[in-house]
Amino acid sequence: MAKASVSMVKVSDVYESFKESLRLSNGLAGFNIADKILIKPNIVSWDFELPFPPYGVVTTSAVISALVKILSEYGFKNLTIGEGSLPKLRTTGDAVYGALGYKKLQERYGVKLVDFNQGEFVSTDYGEGFKLDLAKEALEADKIINVPVLKTHSQAKVSLGIKNLKGCLSKKSKQYCHGLGDEELSLTFPRIIEKLPVALTIIDGLYTLEKGPGPTGKAFKKGLIIASSDPFACDLVGAAILGYPAKEVPHLTNYANSHGYSLELSDYEVIGESIEDHQKFVEHDFDWSEDNTGPSGFKKRGITGLAIRKYDSSLCTGCSVQYNPMLILISSAFKGLPFPNVEVVSGKQQLASKGFENSILFGKCACHLNKNNPNLKKAIPLWGCPPDLEKMVEKLAKEGLECDYNEYVRFRHYLFDRYKGKEGFNLADWSVE
Ligand code: SF4
Repeated sequence: MAKASVSMVKVSDVYESFKESLRLSNGLAGFNIADKILIKPNIVSWDFELPFPPYGVVTTSAVISALVKILSEYGFKNLTIGEGSLPKLRTTGDAVYGALGYKKLQERYGVKLVDFNQGEFVSTDYGEGFKLDLAKEALEADKIINVPVLKTHSQAKVSLGIKNLKGCLSKKSKQYCHGLGDEELSLTFPRIIEKLPVALTIIDGLYTLEKGPGPTGKAFKKGLIIASSDPFACDLVGAAILGYPAKEVPHLTNYANSHGYSLELSDYEVIGESIEDHQKFVEHDFDWSEDNTGPSGFKKRGITGLAIRKYDSSLCTGCSVQYNPMLILISSAFKGLPFPNVEVVSGKQQLASKGFENSILFGKCACHLNKNNPNLKKAIPLWGCPPDLEKMVEKLAKEGLECDYNEYVRFRHYLFDRYKGKEGFNLADWSVE
């Protein structure tokens, strides 16, 4: 049997490198000129209110624009860009597409722009009672070109092509994928692809991200494009570049086992750049105290009287994106004195423990789960799916925990400013010339 092949190209000029990557991977073989093609970027989140560094978080417009241009030159006319960003986004996908320059692609090439969250979802049966609501636009495409980012993920270790398809799900199905138990996430979302016509995966590796998937992670310049018509092979190589053998990534292992794939790199052909020349380990997870009372940094700052239980895989992306800001806000309430014996739980399976004066229940799932928990002395429920940060500050203030929202604003500026003037970091990569 022929080995599945993956092309890896070092980017000089994005358009030229992209063409080269398609040539090496023979990525458009099997495409028909009349195909209805859906391009699926990764726009996990965006923010118009506070500075948002997209490096390693969001697929670059430079890559999307090069792809659209090349497809148009080949004569493909029926092109759609579709994504279902976090429902938390106050602005619709339309405004995000404007910010990313996609409207220009619409004007120039007639590309249709679709926000899955505003469209229809179709309940799709995967067998044995497993159902997911998939975006109709994704199901009705003849071919999907999946364009994820080369990044790590604090829960899934890596977030590449297979994971990027989660953006095709309704909010309810996205939450369903983060079910109960540590195994659930890595078993459910790799199945999304089974019903979607993914014909080509192109990993945008212009930047990469440590401790992703959001902008609280740290980005690095990478300058790679990885492409394959085999979605698993592409992810396996992407994971290897980030320093994660596929056998150490549960969702890749599960996918390989259920689809008869080998987990060994040597069973795949890599054309172009070599893995060894670009492989560099990128951390995916945050350091936590051994006694599970909070991020390691909290101990170093001398914060006591507070036990923040580490997020688990049942925490969906909505709450995950708010989790780091929640940590910043709670730490801003530290004025040198111990916290009044506070525990924070989150997600769908963390039960508040005995012996705490105050139990903060972060998100509606934790609120529901702990409703009748006899361990609770005083519950501080932060409802919301995910909870709103400003409301959280108000609520905690009523309970005597004075968080400083400006601390969070400063943190956001810090995240953005740390890339300013840094060689190789260019915000123009998220615009279309
Ligand atoms: S509250 Fe959080 S964990 Fe629960 S469904 Fe909403 S986003 Fe997911």
